[in-house]
Amino acid sequence: MIVDVQRLLDALEVHYKRRGDRLWARCPNPDHDDPVPSWMVWDDPGSRRHGRHRCYGCGLRGGPVELVMAARGVDAQAALEMLRTGDLEVSFLSAEVELVKHGFGRSPVVVPEGVRFAPLDEWPGAPRNYARERCLSAESVDRWSIGYAVDGDLAGRVVIPALDAQGDLVGYAARDFLGRRRKMMTPPKTGMQVPMGMHLWPSTESKPEPLVVVEGPFDGIAVDADVHTPVLVLQGSNPDDSVLALAASPRFSCVVLLTDPDKAGDRVAEQFGGIARWSRVMRVRDPEGRDPAKLHEDGALKRLLVKELRL
Ligand SMILES: [Zn+2]
Repeated sequence: MIVDVQRLLDALEVHYKRRGDRLWARCPNPDHDDPVPSWMVWDDPGSRRHGRHRCYGCGLRGGPVELVMAARGVDAQAALEMLRTGDLEVSFLSAEVELVKHGFGRSPVVVPEGVRFAPLDEWPGAPRNYARERCLSAESVDRWSIGYAVDGDLAGRVVIPALDAQGDLVGYAARDFLGRRRKMMTPPKTGMQVPMGMHLWPSTESKPEPLVVVEGPFDGIAVDADVHTPVLVLQGSNPDDSVLALAASPRFSCVVLLTDPDKAGDRVAEQFGGIARWSRVMRVRDPEGRDPAKLHEDGALKRLLVKELRL
């Protein structure tokens, strides 16, 4: 399916701001009174998620058909007709019917009200200082669609969405920046186990690359920024079988475990031992025994991975 996303948004009078390969706008769903841009669409021709959209606030998501349905208040058939007959003057080729059949409707995971997904230089002092402390760059904030909340259920937290390979929201991690005891919050129903980083994985046809497995989103973001290799972020130290199967995919040349030098890290390493039959699995440790989180601060992580993998 190829759609000219910008022309589609222009035709629907959705005013957007580009941030990398995503266009952000106020939610086009008329039932959602969206005070800040909570809605985004991928403009990434050539990728599987091109033309897919989602709202972090109300859960609206899907492809161009669902977008036209929501924005114009029409049913799927009418939306298809508008796209096909050029009523909306966008190019839209094949596979439309499938899109409707698999219509995504609404995601069960939404981000609570009050979270703002803005470029880093627009963040207020407290969350911005915390972002600096965790070595988040403006580029990382865009690549990972990171937000912050100063009010609502996640007030005082930096919010890192967990997106799947299609760019759909499947969970989030909300990290406290006010020094409170409950450091991490996740959506009530999905628990801690949803992995992150998959939306940045290269397509299945590209040359196999090493997959780096880390615990916790900030380590994953640091690895991604440092070495530009696919990252699998575990939340918690109990990856389930589907996560292990993803890591064992032939699209990865090997699996590098960059887990913490502690009991939880050992447990993760043990579980990944189960896929060693299919994939080369190795655990990389800092010779000085530091946490992966500390390694990127002085470039040690990059040196370590370059040394081990010639990345
Ligand atoms: Zn919405």
